[in-house]
Amino acid sequence: MFIDTHCHLNFKDFKDDYYQVAKRALDDQVEMIVVGSEVKTSQRAVDLLDEFGKGVYAAVGLHPIHLQDILVKNNNENGKYEFRSKKEDYSEEDYFNLAKSNKRVVAIGEIGLDYYHIGSDVDSEIKKIKNLQQEVFYRQLELSKKLDLPAIVHCREAHDDLFPILQDFYKRNSFKKEWGVIHCFSGDYDLAKKYFEIGLKISFTGLVTFVKDWDEVIKKSPLQKIMIETDSPYLSPEPHRGKRNEPIYVKEVAKKIANIKALDFFTVENELYQQSKTFFSL
Ligand SMILES: [Zn+2]
Repeated sequence: MFIDTHCHLNFKDFKDDYYQVAKRALDDQVEMIVVGSEVKTSQRAVDLLDEFGKGVYAAVGLHPIHLQDILVKNNNENGKYEFRSKKEDYSEEDYFNLAKSNKRVVAIGEIGLDYYHIGSDVDSEIKKIKNLQQEVFYRQLELSKKLDLPAIVHCREAHDDLFPILQDFYKRNSFKKEWGVIHCFSGDYDLAKKYFEIGLKISFTGLVTFVKDWDEVIKKSPLQKIMIETDSPYLSPEPHRGKRNEPIYVKEVAKKIANIKALDFFTVENELYQQSKTFFSL
């Protein structure tokens, strides 16, 4: 069994065929967590739960890019996309109610910091946006603690600010188990180790199938600290690059991790699945 710990079947890219996409994955032993990015997509993730049984789960949260009205654009190895983001004011009540509305809401996310998509070059404005992102991130960490759900953390070009926030949160609270994951991890092993030390995991996408930057961190990190995901519709792995990504392709990420760590594929499959189940209390 596999679990794609981070996909966006709730996004409009899957509007016409989300059911078939999920079914295809489930029929092929791939479960999934559908991750929200604002109230609308979080609600959609929760709504999807009614159409499927066990094996499909949801996360709800406000992504940092949705704190502003900006044109979100990307055209590099992370893929090509462009959409307009609508500003949302964070409401703890909305996300609390969404999280409580179904037992298969298993995490708060995605939340975090994104300094790559700050649509401004005015220093004072940048500072204001960063402060807002940090504040809303911290408030959602508090929500995850209150609900006893792990946090799915997004970080783009912001580890220098992200780590101290997580470390501070870790010190102020007591945790009996791992309490968050840095999704689509972008750092090196030294940084990974710092996250491990404060009770966090790291997660890898299809990017690792064609970019070698993370071979070393994957090799050195214990399998028990790693999770896998697609972040579909984005970040399609080899050999599906250039096409829309989907949960079933998470197997390509598992294959690559087994390959880099020189471990038997079946061992990697089982360990990753069991670890993820424990982490999200599935
Ligand atoms: Zn995502």
